[in-house]
Amino acid sequence: MRTLVADHPLIAHKLTALRDQRTDSPTFRRLVDELVTLLAYEATRDVRTTDVDVVTPVAHARGTRLARPRPLVVPVMRAGLGMLDGMCRLLPTAEVGFLGLVRDEETLVATTYASRLPASLAGRQVYVLDPMLATGGTLVAVIDLLIERGADEVTAICLLAAPEGLAHLETRFGSGVPVAVVTAGVDERLNEHGYIVPGLGDAGDRLYGAVGSG
Ligand code: URA
Repeated sequence: MRTLVADHPLIAHKLTALRDQRTDSPTFRRLVDELVTLLAYEATRDVRTTDVDVVTPVAHARGTRLARPRPLVVPVMRAGLGMLDGMCRLLPTAEVGFLGLVRDEETLVATTYASRLPASLAGRQVYVLDPMLATGGTLVAVIDLLIERGADEVTAICLLAAPEGLAHLETRFGSGVPVAVVTAGVDERLNEHGYIVPGLGDAGDRLYGAVGSG
């Protein structure tokens, strides 16, 4: 598994503002949007392309365009939805699938409550959007599902990662289908509630305001 911690002063600046507990939801959403576009630039470095000819006003030129099948972007609901616009800004021709997983706050086990994906992902490069790589339970479940459907490359874009989550993914996806994680930072640890420390709190709550269950 490949882990890329994006090292750029603008990314560090935006991440710091996201962490700040005084940052309100509208500002938080805008910052996530901007940060994802910067992370997507790194995450798509190996997106498949084909060579094409193009005619400029002056002459013929060789160029590049995204290969088929189109990349698939999969935000993990709910917090991953806050990353979708920023990703699509960079990859407007990508197809978008959806996965909904909820984490039991006591067992920390993730279960799927919604899935809208192409029946086959054979030959597809898939970009998963999930802001917080904490225990890794959700992301492992998501990547397993994508690989079962035939994805032949999966890149997860996470705003923040915990060492425990990265280790979990490394154990599960150390070999086989290529898996990569692109993140703005790797924090110290998880606390007893499975939150990333220092982290930024509950990403879904901070994006959308806290919403009770039911
Ligand atoms: N999910 C979050 O939103 N925040 C964390 O710190 C961990 C998981």
